[in-house]
Amino acid sequence: MHPIPRASALDDLRSRIRRELETLAYPTPAWVEPVAAPDGTVALDCAVIGAGQYGLTLGAGLRRERVERIGIFDVAEPGREGPWVTFARMSMLRTPKTLTGPDLGLPSLSFRAWWEAQHGADGWAAMFRIPRTSWMDYLNFYREALDLPVTNGWRLASLEPVEGSQLLRLGFETVAEPRTVFARSCVLATGAAGFSIPEWMAQAVPADRVYHANHAFDPAVLRGMRVGVLGAGASGFDTAVAALAAGARSADLCFRRPALPLTNPRRWMENAGYLAHYVDLPDARKWAMMHRLLSIGQGPPKPTYDAAMATPGFALHPATPWDSICWSGSEILVEGGGRRFAFDAVVAATGMRVDLAERPEMAAIAAEAALWSDRYAPPPEEANPALGRFPYLDRLGAFTEREAGRAPWLSRVLTITRGATLSLGPVSASNSGMKYTAPRLIEGVKRCLFLDQEAATWREFIGGDHTELPREAVA
Ligand SMILES: Cc1cc2nc3c(=O)[nH]c(=O)nc-3n(C[C@H](O)[C@H](O)[C@H](O)COP(=O)(O)OP(=O)(O)OC[C@H]3O[C@@H](n4cnc5c(N)ncnc54)[C@H](O)[C@@H]3O)c2cc1C
Repeated sequence: MHPIPRASALDDLRSRIRRELETLAYPTPAWVEPVAAPDGTVALDCAVIGAGQYGLTLGAGLRRERVERIGIFDVAEPGREGPWVTFARMSMLRTPKTLTGPDLGLPSLSFRAWWEAQHGADGWAAMFRIPRTSWMDYLNFYREALDLPVTNGWRLASLEPVEGSQLLRLGFETVAEPRTVFARSCVLATGAAGFSIPEWMAQAVPADRVYHANHAFDPAVLRGMRVGVLGAGASGFDTAVAALAAGARSADLCFRRPALPLTNPRRWMENAGYLAHYVDLPDARKWAMMHRLLSIGQGPPKPTYDAAMATPGFALHPATPWDSICWSGSEILVEGGGRRFAFDAVVAATGMRVDLAERPEMAAIAAEAALWSDRYAPPPEEANPALGRFPYLDRLGAFTEREAGRAPWLSRVLTITRGATLSLGPVSASNSGMKYTAPRLIEGVKRCLFLDQEAATWREFIGGDHTELPREAVA
């Protein structure tokens, strides 16, 4: 037996993808009306912002539903979208290898098919979890095999309704000049924005000595240093391990809780009932679940924990919030939990903040969109201002109006980011939720296109030629 060379195995997979797409192409008629934009062009049916795993999947799914005038825009360089080869530092994904989602139900588009095309069924059986960079390679293959219309190097800078029409005007910053795109709908699949170094940390420490675990930087800058990491989530552990692997002298990971959270209900949520129908729960239950998840926290996955504990130079410090931090002129002095540390560099692994008001490109949305604090008042024991800032989305992921009638255009803007998780499900924005959440968003886009052209649909129904039988059949 001769192994199939890799390139031809992937060519074979490309043919299978085409064949499966053809097999499941029903229904094929075009249905989305072209709409003229103010600049004389035809508006996009949908502008997808972000070409990470969600942006690509939504693009692929919209095309299958014959929503064809789409554009996918990403500020990143091609092949560097999302966290996978930029700031993610784990060796493998944190979720089980069996997850599906980008495939949208087509076996040939799954990660497994891509992996097996190159490594065979034995290679699949031998793999424990998906290697991190292989996930990016798979997404690159997916984009290329489906010929998705991605424009890189464009950053969405503004989004607003076009007065007197059903269109949205999107302003982009590009390497050359600012550009404007008109679209009938928009999905914000912008992923991991909102990670920032806490101000108290940034102000206390020189800029070249403070990093964020979820920002792209070369861990080699920490070579020879004593590194303090604040925060016990997976990214904190990954960054500590990466720093040590790159030659850091030590990595002390400090966190506020008395112990690491030992449970992770997110894995339990990965069942077909919960993933599909969290959205149908009453608001009070959604809030209570998210509040509980935030209260118990989320530690690292076991392989990440094991890797860190086995790395010389790594130390874990529970019950150690940082009460004070200062720069002595040569080192960073930290006090917390009754301990004192001297570091050469610090890393914030303090998670992500959801706040529309902090994102300039969201200004028009933030001015009109309902937040959870506008729609739901939790009992005092579940008070949680951070959750109150999450946007209150409808069940297909569209923004809703804070005041009815003021901004109906918001129904044309959908989102799947961390901010969507209170409305759509705690793991909806992750790999493990894509199988259920991506089709929902695709339906959301179709719903708004269909309802916006409802009058044209009626005209076509009444005035179109729907002849089925020949004239003779009347006699
Ligand atoms: C470090 C890390 C590890 C993770 N590991 C796992 C895991 O193992 N399993 C799991 O289930 N989940 C994991 N997640 C959660 C989730 O699956 C990822 O965050 C995933 O990348 C989300 O995909 P996405 O397409 O929504 O966003 P991203 O992959 O983040 O893609 C968003 C894209 O939007 C672009 N963008 C942002 N703002 C703009 C703008 N204004 N204009 C133009 N483009 C813009 C970005 O450049 C980016 O390429 C992880 C998250 C992180 C941060």
